Amino acid sequence: MRYIRFSLAAAVASGLLFLGLASTAVDAASSCNPSTCVHPGCVCPSMMPPKGMDPKTVPQFFTLTFDDAVQGPTVPVASSLMKPHTNPNGCPIKATWFAQTVYSDYSLIQQWYAAGNEVADHTMNHLGTPPAEEIVGNRKAINAFSGIPFAKLNGFRAPFLNYSDATFQILGQEKFLYDSSTAAVPSDAYWPYTLDSGLHNDCWNGICDKTISIPGMWEIPMHAIMDSDLPTAIPHVMDVQLEASADVITGLLHKNFDRHYQGNRAPFGIYLHPVHVGNATQLYNDFFTYARSLPDVWFVTNQQLLQWMQNPVPASLLANQPYMKCEQPAVGKEICNGLDDTKSGSIDKGVLETCNFVAGPWSTCYGCPKSIPSVADPVPERVAAAGQSGYRTPVPSTCAMEWWDPIAAQCLCQSSNCTFTDIAVSTNKGGVDLSGGSGSTSTAHNAAGRQISNVRTGLGLVAVVAVSLSQLL
Ligand SMILES: [Zn+2]
Repeated sequence: MRYIRFSLAAAVASGLLFLGLASTAVDAASSCNPSTCVHPGCVCPSMMPPKGMDPKTVPQFFTLTFDDAVQGPTVPVASSLMKPHTNPNGCPIKATWFAQTVYSDYSLIQQWYAAGNEVADHTMNHLGTPPAEEIVGNRKAINAFSGIPFAKLNGFRAPFLNYSDATFQILGQEKFLYDSSTAAVPSDAYWPYTLDSGLHNDCWNGICDKTISIPGMWEIPMHAIMDSDLPTAIPHVMDVQLEASADVITGLLHKNFDRHYQGNRAPFGIYLHPVHVGNATQLYNDFFTYARSLPDVWFVTNQQLLQWMQNPVPASLLANQPYMKCEQPAVGKEICNGLDDTKSGSIDKGVLETCNFVAGPWSTCYGCPKSIPSVADPVPERVAAAGQSGYRTPVPSTCAMEWWDPIAAQCLCQSSNCTFTDIAVSTNKGGVDLSGGSGSTSTAHNAAGRQISNVRTGLGLVAVVAVSLSQLL
């Protein structure tokens, strides 16, 4: 990971006092024309909530994210930070995992998603400034072996937070919904914005490019924890617990959160690598408890945050939004969908396949491949081919993963509120050709045809296109 404090320390040493860069906000406003950048397809960088809403009336969003491998040792760390807490509507809090291929267990990625959380792209091999194949391959492998539809795998964070203009161009070409690789300090503490008129974060160190134009793709800045009010304050972006004693960190977390909550209510974030949480679990849980003790504080995925950005409602109405609900499908038998369908206390018990590779075993519901997924071949042939004994049928684009039985090759969705159609992708290895969705009227599309993920509802996923059961079987 990259600790931005190192870069900033160099900037401070060279005389750049970033807290004096108040002109950043002016620059952003001047290069984004509100008369041509029209909500919800285009949103200018702004310190204020969308559509002129009063900060006092909007939810205080809290984005908790995890990075890197989703595996046996890391998932319990995330769970220990999430299980004690609920959102104001009684649902478990939600988080986003920027997952890599290498060392991940695809069944655990699936279970993370099935629990209502978000999975986003962090490249196959954890490469900074990655080539397109690293980004595209990761998305394809997770789709194939974790069953997550392409329409839901549409966020990105650059490993080490190292990106270039080319990274954004790749994301734009691949129709990603958002990037979240940049840092925000108080002078550029923007709400999420679209990249129609350039990137406006990380400008203090010369990284940003205000000439980039990727219409409709969002930037969700990572809001730094500032370690003082002084001009020489250092921003801390990831794994803040590494930096000081527990008492000092707790004080900083409260102070920074309060600045958001009592100020413009720009989304507040905690960005962690589970392997580095160490003995800070209690510290974070105490802080999360504090945050949740305040009215209108919601822990959301990045996709949920963007759902709200597209259709902002007062905090008093957030509980009624379909994307904030949390009931799970009831399919009545264990079908290998990442859920404990039979309430046995064990997810996908007896139906997972374990795949043994030199780099370590992992499990999947969708058939072990002959070789480990790689950049050269992100979706290798399965050991059991179609028609052979033991074949697992991949999730078709017309069924939500939660409702798909890969052993019986059957979609168990039988009502209109769980039908689903994924976005189309190319089968070419060299690139993904996302069509921009199915043309549904019930799914929001931005100016570039980028797809806001379909809404999770009480019983799974709201229809993009209504597909009858007879068509699915
Ligand atoms: Zn990483």
